Amino acid sequence: MCAAKAITGNLFERRTVSVLPPLPLAGPYDYVVPEGLDIQPGDFVEIPLGRQTQRGVVWGDARGDVDPAKLREIYGVLPAAPMPAVTRRFIDWVSAYTLSPQGAVLRMAMSVTDALEAPKPVFRFGLAHGMAESQGNMRMTPARKRILSLLADHPSLEQGDILQETGTSASVLKGLVDAGVIRREQVAPPSPFALPDLSIPRPDLSLDQEKAADFLCEKVDAGGFSAILIDGVTGSGKTEVYFEAVRAALAQGKQVMVLLPEIALSAQWLQRFRDRFGVEPALWHSEVGQARRRETWRAVADGSARLVVGARSALFLPYRDLGLIVVDEEHEHAFKQEDGVIYHARDMAVARGHLGGFPVMLASATPSLETLANVEAGRYERVVLGQRHGVAVLPSVEIVDIRVDKPERQRWITPTLKQRLMETFAAGEQAMLFLNRRGYAPLTLCRACGHRFQCPNCTAWLVEHRAWGKLQCHHCGYSAKIPDACPACGAEEKLAPCGPGVERLYEEAIQTFPDLKIEVATSDNIAGPKAAAALVGRVHNQEVDLLIGTQILAKGYHFPMLTLVGVIDADLGLAGGDLRAAERSYQLLTQVAGRAGRGERPGTVLLQTADPSNRVIKAIAAGDRDAFDQVELAERMKYGMPPHGKLAALIVSGKKENEVDEAAWRIGRVAPRGDGIVVLGPAPAPLSLLRGRFRRRFLLRTDKSVKVQAVIQDWLSRVKTPGSVRVQIDIDPYSFM
Ligand code: ADP
Ligand code: ZN
Repeated sequence: MCAAKAITGNLFERRTVSVLPPLPLAGPYDYVVPEGLDIQPGDFVEIPLGRQTQRGVVWGDARGDVDPAKLREIYGVLPAAPMPAVTRRFIDWVSAYTLSPQGAVLRMAMSVTDALEAPKPVFRFGLAHGMAESQGNMRMTPARKRILSLLADHPSLEQGDILQETGTSASVLKGLVDAGVIRREQVAPPSPFALPDLSIPRPDLSLDQEKAADFLCEKVDAGGFSAILIDGVTGSGKTEVYFEAVRAALAQGKQVMVLLPEIALSAQWLQRFRDRFGVEPALWHSEVGQARRRETWRAVADGSARLVVGARSALFLPYRDLGLIVVDEEHEHAFKQEDGVIYHARDMAVARGHLGGFPVMLASATPSLETLANVEAGRYERVVLGQRHGVAVLPSVEIVDIRVDKPERQRWITPTLKQRLMETFAAGEQAMLFLNRRGYAPLTLCRACGHRFQCPNCTAWLVEHRAWGKLQCHHCGYSAKIPDACPACGAEEKLAPCGPGVERLYEEAIQTFPDLKIEVATSDNIAGPKAAAALVGRVHNQEVDLLIGTQILAKGYHFPMLTLVGVIDADLGLAGGDLRAAERSYQLLTQVAGRAGRGERPGTVLLQTADPSNRVIKAIAAGDRDAFDQVELAERMKYGMPPHGKLAALIVSGKKENEVDEAAWRIGRVAPRGDGIVVLGPAPAPLSLLRGRFRRRFLLRTDKSVKVQAVIQDWLSRVKTPGSVRVQIDIDPYSFM
């Protein structure tokens, strides 16, 4: 009895901590710290979990919810810099905001598991002191001589360099080390990232640009959190201006992160970046290879990577001392992650700046209404660049009414656009046709029986890709060969493409302009940085007269000789009818239009539309963004929609339709009620079948003052759903599909 008590007493004296494993459903668990092990919060450790060994991060004090006698011991600490406190607080914050388990968020911060292993040791070789004596009783060969004389000129060298310079083998070098003539020492591996060069002079800024740059630099110098919108028309030099803020933060010895929506396609931007800072930034996106990711992760953690340029996931890197975030094209929906932890990188960036106590800068020519509302409310500041840099002026926008100015049957280029294209080419200039549809035709049907080709896994039509001879689903990737006969009625040669995709537009263009160099650019053929850089080169060298493409051409590119942009179907994005259809369409078309006339020659944009009185089309033609924003904000206000109210979505999905319906019905029965809370649904999602899963949606709309997360937590705590049904929570949804 007494002995047992003594043991329990001892157990209580053991130190316990909580450890968070990077697992999708996990929170932190308590562990015992083995005697003699020095453990700090943030340490990466190995722990037993179930029957496996897991890695995790020491999260803080023990939670104390499990009897200490039942706790297991931490195995050991991994050789990596501890995760900084601010990163851990950020993970907690994102978890609480998005209602995702902490482990799911941590997983994004630990995506490179082997980064936690000690890097391969690096050795350097140099002449040993007092080598004269040892050399005396050593047989000298020509190879040995060559090594010794090389090292007489260098304090130390790596093995590879020595062998290459002297044409000797590793065994010769080893012989010299064994003989004590040469010393071998382990050194810290060099960082793969050079320090930025801060002595490169900045370009001459215009007065407006200088004012903006000064303002931004003051923010950086003052330190502390701030959020600033850099609001400037396309081509006004937003990038040049925020480069000055980047420089200011680097001059303080801080790390800087720039988030880009489509980093794989940002070759031109990256070149400007290299020119300005004289070094390669650390890139972070899905196409970076495993070995490079590992180096980068460690270099960000030890602070030697000072400039990080990345996609949204770069937010979760373990920065040692982050001092500035820039979110370029802040309005882009690509910043919203729709799988796993559903979050908006722009909003998380602002939260990260808040926690870290540094400025966050959001740049756009067409800021999101959310950001504009934050400016209006005084939460964000704003600098404005109203003019294009240099002699370039904004393009003039003209509307082409396709009901009057009709293209030929099964054609999409109107006579007016064709005329303008001819004039452009005659002047030796370049043009671009914009159509946001990959493939040949968005729908294929049988003219005999009306059969339409649909994806077996999704509520979506199959898109014809004639170049590949395939019908493809753009949601799940399903693809099938284009059949010779209709699978429904067996009729042959009756399958007809409906509507245009870029491939079909290309067909029309080469028939219309047989002598021109025409190129198509979509995510199908311009998939990575290499392809994008090559395309940019061809356009610059005038190896392309006419560029046909989707939204991948809308952003960032600067082609001085491109003076005409034709938007084939300006109504396309307006059809969807979701909350942000008008806003998104306005942003996309403005960006596309912004490609025209960026050099010395002025640009023109033709918008082909069947609805010239639509307010989006009218606002773009009038170049009146403020008017558009005001009307759009008023419209949102009327329905209590963001940015005036809050939205959250629940997506209930599963493989069995009846189970999904049953679960959705149960969830609906206990839906929250109260002042300022409205729940719509359950309703079949527009994509009611996606990748083989049936989907039902709820939309929760609340007043701004309501704590949406608490409402949802309480809601879902009152209902049990089977394990086969998944309930995803999307706070501030951008997709309503
Ligand atoms: P934005 O990001 O606002 O679209 P950019 O920063 O890309 O504008 O600038 C548009 C073009 O003008 C780029 O080619 C850029 O190099 C050039 N530019 C902008 N400001 C200057 C400047 N002060 N000096 C020289 N070139 C500039
Ligand atoms: Zn599909």
